Amino acid sequence: MARQGVRMAMREKMVWGVPVRLLGVFAALVLLTPLVAACSSKQAAAPADDRMLVAVSIPPIADMVRQVGGEGVEVLTLVPPGASPHTYEPTPDQMRRLAKAKVLFLNGVGLEFWADKAIAAAGNPNLQVVTLSEGQEILQSDDNAAGNPHLWLSPRRAMAYVERIRDALIAADPEGEAAYRANADAYLAALQQLDADIKAAVAGFRSREMVTFHAAWAYFIHDYGLHQAAVLESTPGREPSAAEVAQIVETIKAVGAPAVFAEPQFSPQAAQVIADEAGVPVLILDPLGGTPPRETYLELMRWNLEQLRKGLGGTP
Ligand SMILES: [Zn+2]
Repeated sequence: MARQGVRMAMREKMVWGVPVRLLGVFAALVLLTPLVAACSSKQAAAPADDRMLVAVSIPPIADMVRQVGGEGVEVLTLVPPGASPHTYEPTPDQMRRLAKAKVLFLNGVGLEFWADKAIAAAGNPNLQVVTLSEGQEILQSDDNAAGNPHLWLSPRRAMAYVERIRDALIAADPEGEAAYRANADAYLAALQQLDADIKAAVAGFRSREMVTFHAAWAYFIHDYGLHQAAVLESTPGREPSAAEVAQIVETIKAVGAPAVFAEPQFSPQAAQVIADEAGVPVLILDPLGGTPPRETYLELMRWNLEQLRKGLGGTP
């Protein structure tokens, strides 16, 4: 309607032949042209509207999907940064957004206790659900019959996640195959380098005795030759009893564990009490990241490696 109005006004002025008014119309056209051009070029590039919506459970998986999906995907993270996946359940509004998603990437091994509910709420028969830990060796867990879910914290397992993400994105969007393959290759090379750097760092550690908040580092410990001396919360979210605290302090002294590793998603109070009694420092290991300076998985793991180095000793 607005454009028609301009055209009519222009015709009117041509008929009447008033140069000043013509100048005004030309001025209006000159002003309008970049706006129209901007709108159409935005539509032509069109990443915002054409991107495939991909849902994930936790921030580390969100980053892996962004690395492989690049410009082609928009990522919806159901467990936001700062929340613990052991206790956080996505809101009904987040679950409803799954209705528009093409793929849902889950970690599996019982981490997404809300998955069935969310998939039902989505009411989306085209939603492809991909469980990234499937096909991998699962370590046992004291509090979870399904096993220990924290595979992503070993970069070696993360590489298998990335390969599955690549294959699932190609299946959902075959036109993007070349880009997804190129992105995955570059990202896998960076993960290989991270794996090599962790191996080299661990070789220089003075102690291999890990006292962690919960059993999040089981795969890392297993894959890089460390030892889990004690866990502060055998069930995440449940504070250790007085008897458990006393026993953990004894263990720290007995094995000479040089630090206690707390987590940003839980209160550090229990870790501080135990560390004070054992006479060792508290450091932080973050299993999730998702915000600066630990926004990407690579940033997260390199930050954690630095914490391990501070706690277990070794040359930077
Ligand atoms: Zn955990």
